[in-house]
Amino acid sequence: MNKVTYREDHDLSGVNSLEELKEMALPCKRCALRAGCTGVVFGEGNPNARLMLIGEGPGADEDLQGRPFVGKAGQLLDQILAAINLDRFTHTYIANVVKCRPPGNRAPRPEEAGQCLPWLYRQIELVSPDLIVLLGSTALQNLIDPEARITKMRGQWLVSKSGIKIMPTYHPAALLRDMNKKRPVWEDFQKVRDEYKIIAEG
Ligand code: SF4
Repeated sequence: MNKVTYREDHDLSGVNSLEELKEMALPCKRCALRAGCTGVVFGEGNPNARLMLIGEGPGADEDLQGRPFVGKAGQLLDQILAAINLDRFTHTYIANVVKCRPPGNRAPRPEEAGQCLPWLYRQIELVSPDLIVLLGSTALQNLIDPEARITKMRGQWLVSKSGIKIMPTYHPAALLRDMNKKRPVWEDFQKVRDEYKIIAEG
């Protein structure tokens, strides 16, 4: 298993609950994305989840509803989770690299992600999951390695210095564009299911 480190530097160590962190994040204007969106999409799910899912950023539906993964890609993610007997609210916590919608759904720029990541780092620390699934190259490149390729890294377990097992896979939106990615994503989530089962039974 590849050992990885991700940047975890932030100044939010004194924030001791997700509720408090959310209250702080909602008025955030640290980067230019906030000016073009409806509002900050903080993240949601079980605050004690063993599994955390990390995507790229809100799309149009997420921006309007203020919730992550509620559009077509989100519905597909729910189906994938259901296929491995997991429910997003019961078993997972879901967040994104950036919490404001990039215009036209473009990928967030490094300076935007850099401003936003401290919120995510503290979310990870507060949820303290055993497993993280990185959904797509934006999550992989911003958390693990800017040069990493999702096509090469998907399906492999990585482990953070704090011992979290991390599985990169394709973003569900990529699946909607290219159904050839369905099989690899299914294989990746079967590995997640197996690991989750071990943790849940342990
Ligand atoms: S994307 Fe993140 S850093 Fe930028 S304004 Fe929104 S919450 Fe703040």
